[in-house]
Amino acid sequence: MKTIRSVKQLQKELNNLKKQGKKIGFTPTLGALHKGHLTLVKQMLKENDIGVVSIFVNPTQFNVKEDLDKYPRTIKADSDKLKKAKLDILFVPTVKEVYPKGLKTKLKLDLNGLDQRMEGKFRPGHFEGVCQVVKRLLDITTPDKLYMGQKDFQQFTIIRKMLDYLKIPTELVVCDIVREKNGLAMSSRNERLSKKARKEAELIHKTLNWIKRNRNKYSVKDLKEKAKAKMSIEGFEPEYVSIINGSTLKDIRKINAHKYVVACTAVWTEGVRLIDNLILFNK
Ligand code: AMP
Repeated sequence: MKTIRSVKQLQKELNNLKKQGKKIGFTPTLGALHKGHLTLVKQMLKENDIGVVSIFVNPTQFNVKEDLDKYPRTIKADSDKLKKAKLDILFVPTVKEVYPKGLKTKLKLDLNGLDQRMEGKFRPGHFEGVCQVVKRLLDITTPDKLYMGQKDFQQFTIIRKMLDYLKIPTELVVCDIVREKNGLAMSSRNERLSKKARKEAELIHKTLNWIKRNRNKYSVKDLKEKAKAKMSIEGFEPEYVSIINGSTLKDIRKINAHKYVVACTAVWTEGVRLIDNLILFNK
């Protein structure tokens, strides 16, 4: 595995590989890698000649400075995991490399309101930062395929829209959510939870499954209210439960009036914000 820190060097390397006709896959991450990330990496390596992973804690997508400061940085352990997975290239740029002085990287995109709903309401500016960094990383790597997780449902939907809007020919591949044994979606943030909260957090996935099972029994309004109540046990505070059209991300009123429906939630516990989602159906 080659570890590259400079944009110039990475571009030189990738240009050579592209000249040889190699197909390039790319997985952007914030690091603190877990099995969820590694599943993306494995799929990328299977489907491409060369796999590139970036580890970059992007300051522009954190709307709370404290969250940025607290974000785990475990580059040595991450690098070992990626070596073991037989990754080809690890890209670890500095903020200056990604956002050099004088380079305009902020984007003006028409996302059709996708960035205003759910996470957008609670994390102002977050998706602007995500689009900015993904576009910049795509400009640098120009991959054939881009790998993202369904775990961040709104994020990949917005990136898909951005690719379409900017006519970027990279194909987006979305990978399933990888979960801990008790159903909790894997996340770097889980490490910040006590053993007790990490165990109890199984109620998030359980509640999403409850919504799925009961989708024809209750109205959407009741499903959301009941789900919120189920997740409001001591120490847990649901921020939102949304039942949305999976394409537009708009809240829906009637389940069966749509072809693609997803339940999404964000829940606070011990100062950690956990997000998860479940596709109820995609006809
Ligand atoms: P992050 O480092 O949190 O930005 O995540 C990098 C990529 O890994 C994103 O595309 C995430 O959606 C994906 N990812 C994070 N957690 C999981 C998970 N539990 N299962 C599958 N993919 C995940």
